[in-house]
Amino acid sequence: MKDFGFTINKDRQIDMDTADMRVAEYVKTHEPSFNICIACGTCTATCSAGIFTDMNLRKLFTLVKRGEIANTRTEIAKCMLCGKCSLACPRGVNTRNVIVKINQALIKFSL
Ligand code: SF4
Ligand code: SF4
Repeated sequence: MKDFGFTINKDRQIDMDTADMRVAEYVKTHEPSFNICIACGTCTATCSAGIFTDMNLRKLFTLVKRGEIANTRTEIAKCMLCGKCSLACPRGVNTRNVIVKINQALIKFSL
C-alpha cells in the first residue's frame, strides 16, 4: 500500500449492552457537575500530569461515560489529584472531585 504519511484508525464500536455504566451513574449522582462537561479539552491542555505522561482527562471522562472500565483504570492511575484542571474548566466542573468519585466507584463496585 502506498504510504501517504498518515494512517486511518481502525473502526471502533461501543457495545452499550456490555458497557458497565455503574461508575458513570455513581459520579453523576455524587458530583452533578460531571453532567455539564462539554468535552472542550481545556482540562487536558492544562493537566500537570500531561507534562510527564499521556494523561488525558477528557478521554478519561469519555471512557467513564462509555462504561469502558479497564481503560478507565489505566487512565486514572496517571492523575496526581493536584486540582489544576478544576481551576481551568470553563464550565465550572469540579474535575478533581469527579476523579475522586470515579476512584470511589471503582472501589465500591470492586472494578
Ligand atoms: S475543561 Fe471542563 S468542560 Fe472542558 S473537557 Fe474538561 S471538564 Fe469538560
Ligand atoms: S487533578 Fe489530575 S487530571 Fe487534573 S490537572 Fe491534576 S493531574 Fe491533571
